Amino acid sequence: MVNDHMNPGVDDVMDEARKYIHDPISLTLIERAANYASVHHAGQFRRSGEPYTVHLNSVAYILATLRVGPQTIAAGFLHDVIEDCGISHDELAAEFDPEIADLVESVTKIGTLQFKGKNDPEYQAANHRKIFIAMARDVRVIIIKLVDRLHNMRTLQYQPEASQKRIAQETLDVYAPIAHRLGISAIKNELEDLCFYYLNRDEYYRIARLVEAKKAERDANVSQMIAEISEMLREHEIPHRIFGRSKHLYSIYRKMITKHKRFDEILDLLAIRIVTGTKQSCYETLGYIHAKYHPIPGRLKDYIAVPKTNMYQSLHTTIIGENARIFEVQIRTEEMDAIAERGVAAHWRYKEGSKYDARAEQKEIEDKLAWFKNKTQLLPNIWKLFSMMSSQPMSM
Ligand code: MN
Repeated sequence: MVNDHMNPGVDDVMDEARKYIHDPISLTLIERAANYASVHHAGQFRRSGEPYTVHLNSVAYILATLRVGPQTIAAGFLHDVIEDCGISHDELAAEFDPEIADLVESVTKIGTLQFKGKNDPEYQAANHRKIFIAMARDVRVIIIKLVDRLHNMRTLQYQPEASQKRIAQETLDVYAPIAHRLGISAIKNELEDLCFYYLNRDEYYRIARLVEAKKAERDANVSQMIAEISEMLREHEIPHRIFGRSKHLYSIYRKMITKHKRFDEILDLLAIRIVTGTKQSCYETLGYIHAKYHPIPGRLKDYIAVPKTNMYQSLHTTIIGENARIFEVQIRTEEMDAIAERGVAAHWRYKEGSKYDARAEQKEIEDKLAWFKNKTQLLPNIWKLFSMMSSQPMSM
């Protein structure tokens, strides 16, 4: 099965939050939200038969792993209380604060968007993404909504088959691209593999089997290369972390389709990542690697000097190692690595000892997203499109 996640409890959420949130007021806020949600959702169940709080704890937990601020985690626990418990915005504002109430209200409104169009699906998916982003206003709303969808996708097996296909298609068309645009690749990749499983199960299993068949050999080659490079970097006194990484199944599949390649032709199946201290040490590392191994022409990409539009930064090169094996190597700093995995969510950092400042969090993220806003200019006929969409909730 594609979902092997455990159900986290409130304690797990708190443990994760304490890794980066230290002030007692913020931690208490999160605990109060967890408690409020469990009181108000008492007696409600998911389709899986589990208590509804399983969903809320999971959403809050994933948010904490993304290192978002305490208000966002609190809103994660509370994100369904307006919809499912009849709590009003004002009640939430009085119980917590107006910002949390606003977050929950926006998440609820977006939840009512359901995409109906059948003709020209690509065009409409693009507009749906724009409307979704425009309605969110606050990027934290989008992050909560993405995490909500991620947990719904992880538990999609409990939905009827027709719903599975519809929800998976909508996730692939609307949610995964938004996660990509926000640079949250950890969520984008998992969403894509889950969609792949539900939309094209035969291909999913075929690729999974191919990957599995080569795994032992691949792991051995990667370990050997890691040992060589690591030794070399130690000699040059460059502190680093180095590890192998595997591509997610859907990206392998997409490459096979779009580039018309056979499985064994997909170059970056042997992939290594080096995380080091500074921008300078990234370039130094690249220099030592190119001095030792033959690089493949045309494969060097400097996304440090020229970041991708979703803020992704890294050096990419492809080199030929032992026995003519080809390795794709990524080199980046810790900060770049965090942004590559968590995107905008990684941009806000909890400053130890200082009081939580929601406005600072919001502003910092908004600044980083200036590019994003520019790219999502609304079409003049947005309201017409909006009126074409149903206002039926997702019923999940
Ligand atoms: Mn939900």
